[in-house]
Amino acid sequence: MRNIIIISGPSGCGKSTLIHMLLNEFPELQFSVSHTTRPKRAGELDGRDYHFVSETRFAAMVRDGRFVEKAAVHGHHYGTSWQEIRAKSGQGRILVLDIDVQGARSIKAKFPEAMAIFVVPPTLAALKKRLRQRQQQLDHEARRRLAAAMKELRAYPLYDYVVVNNDVASAYADLCCLVVAFRLQRTRSAGQVRKLLRPKP
Ligand code: 5GP
Repeated sequence: MRNIIIISGPSGCGKSTLIHMLLNEFPELQFSVSHTTRPKRAGELDGRDYHFVSETRFAAMVRDGRFVEKAAVHGHHYGTSWQEIRAKSGQGRILVLDIDVQGARSIKAKFPEAMAIFVVPPTLAALKKRLRQRQQQLDHEARRRLAAAMKELRAYPLYDYVVVNNDVASAYADLCCLVVAFRLQRTRSAGQVRKLLRPKP
C-alpha cells in the first residue's frame, strides 16, 4: 500500500483545519474515516467525521480482525478499518489518515512507504493557549491533554516530516509541498515515463 499519508499531531496543534484545507485542494486525497467509541461532538456527522460505534460493536470488530490499526486515545477507542482502506485506495487516490502516534507506528510497520507527517505547535505556550481556548480554562481535561501532547511530541522520530504550525497559511503551504512531492514519487509516476518509452508504431 503506497498511497497513504499519515498526519498526526497533539491535540490543539491545528491538524484538523489543515487536513480540511488539503482535502479541498487535492481531489485525489481521500479522508480515511475512522471508527470510534467516543461520543459525537456538535457539528460532527456519522460516516463523514467518524463511524461512531458502541464499545460492543468496536470490540466485535477487533475480534473479527477488521482493523488495520487501533488505539485507545483520551479514554476512547479509535481504529482504521481494512474496509475503509480498501474502498478508498486505488485509481491514483491517496488516503489521508488522521491518527495518533500509536496508529502511525502500526501503519508505518505495515506499510513503510506511507508518508508520515507530524504537525507541531510552534511553542509550548502556544499549545497551552490553544488547549485553554478549546476547554475554556486550563481545567482537568486540558491538563490531561497537555500531558498527552508532551508524550506524543516525544514520538517525533517516527515521522518522516515535521510541520510547525506557526500560522495556518505557512503550515498549509508546507503541507501542500509535501503532498505534491509524495504525488511525484517515482514509484507513483513510473507509468508516465514507461508510456514515453513505448516504441511508436
Ligand atoms: P478526536 O477525538 O479529537 O477527534 O481525536 C483524538 C485523537 O485520536 C487524534 O489524535 C486523532 O488523530 C486520533 N485518531 C482518530 N482516529 C484514529 C484512528 O483510527 N486510529 C488512531 N490510532 N488514532 C485516531
